[in-house]
Amino acid sequence: MPKICTRCLLRDFSKEDYERIIVEGIRALPAEELVSDDVAAGRLEVCKKCEKINQGTCLACGCYVEIRAAVKKGRCPYGKWD
Ligand code: SF4
Repeated sequence: MPKICTRCLLRDFSKEDYERIIVEGIRALPAEELVSDDVAAGRLEVCKKCEKINQGTCLACGCYVEIRAAVKKGRCPYGKWD
C-alpha cells in the first residue's frame, strides 16, 4: 500500500485546483488585510511541520492554512504562530 502524504499544502495540488481555491480566495481580500509574502511563508513553514495539517487544511480549525496565513487577522488555534 503506498504511503499517503498528509502534509501537502494545496499549492502542491493541480495548478487548476490551487488557483481556484487559494489564489482566487486570497485575491478576493482587500490588500490592506494581507500580510507580506515573507510573513505568510514563515507561518506556512510552521504549518508544514505541524501534525494538524492535512492536504492544506488545519484539522484544528478547518481552515485552508494558506488563506489563514495570508491574512493579518489569521491566527494559529494552537498559538504556533500569530
Ligand atoms: S494553523 Fe497551527 S494548528 Fe493549524 S496546521 Fe498551522 S500550525 Fe498547525
